[in-house]
Amino acid sequence: MSRRRQLYEGKAKVLYEGPEPGTLVQYFKDDATAFNNEKKGTITGKGVLNNRISEFIMIQLGEIGIATHFIRRLNMREQLVKQVEIIPVEVVIRNVVAGSMAKRLGMKEGTPLPRSVVEFYYKDDDLGDPMITEEHITTFGWAALQEVDDMITMSLRINDFLCGLFMGVGIRLVDFKLEYGRHYQGDEVRTILADEISPDSCRLWDSATNEKLDKDRFRRDMGGVEEAYQEVARRLGVWPEEDRSDAPAA
Ligand code: UDP
Repeated sequence: MSRRRQLYEGKAKVLYEGPEPGTLVQYFKDDATAFNNEKKGTITGKGVLNNRISEFIMIQLGEIGIATHFIRRLNMREQLVKQVEIIPVEVVIRNVVAGSMAKRLGMKEGTPLPRSVVEFYYKDDDLGDPMITEEHITTFGWAALQEVDDMITMSLRINDFLCGLFMGVGIRLVDFKLEYGRHYQGDEVRTILADEISPDSCRLWDSATNEKLDKDRFRRDMGGVEEAYQEVARRLGVWPEEDRSDAPAA
């Protein structure tokens, strides 16, 4: 098969031109980075698992009426997605104090928040993705007020849904990051969920033991990184070895 034209290479994914206009192929790599690229490594099999996990979550979100870029999974490491114009804002939703919130505010990691907190970061590697407010977003034209509204409403709904989904498999959704894009269709433009939802972009703790099942194991050199990603895939029922959907009927 002839290689598709590469449009963009990020830290964990590559985007290729899709087979039809308005589509892209999103390829999941095993590469991992942390601390704004200071720490680099590979997590063997991560791309395959994140492709499956993100597919599973995006399909479920689609079923509850959240518009996403996901079209279908193509193979082990690739999925077909809708082409969007990425809004240069990372939306972080937190249910429990961890990571940069614990550090910045001097709070103990693991403290439950009385209500979910939504934060915004400006997507700019050179600046180290600084935290911003809604006013920065609209003042500098990174997104319109309606788009900010859409991002907040959709993120809170996604959070509620995912908290329940993960709780059902014994996992606490501590925090996670979302990215949105503008999807143009004729004269219409719609805010839709883009990027991925996986243990790369979520903090996932075992509900019973608080064991970390996410990229913090890589960030903090805790070991058992591959196993943590595998455990999340297994609990969600998307571990490739258990997926018999491609196999001939017995
Ligand atoms: N996150 C992410 N990409 C980023 C920054 C954060 O996916 O560039 C996710 C991270 O995995 C965590 C949440 O967003 O689930 C909140 O991250 P935090 O602000 O605590 O920053 P970190 O500790 O990752 O530097």
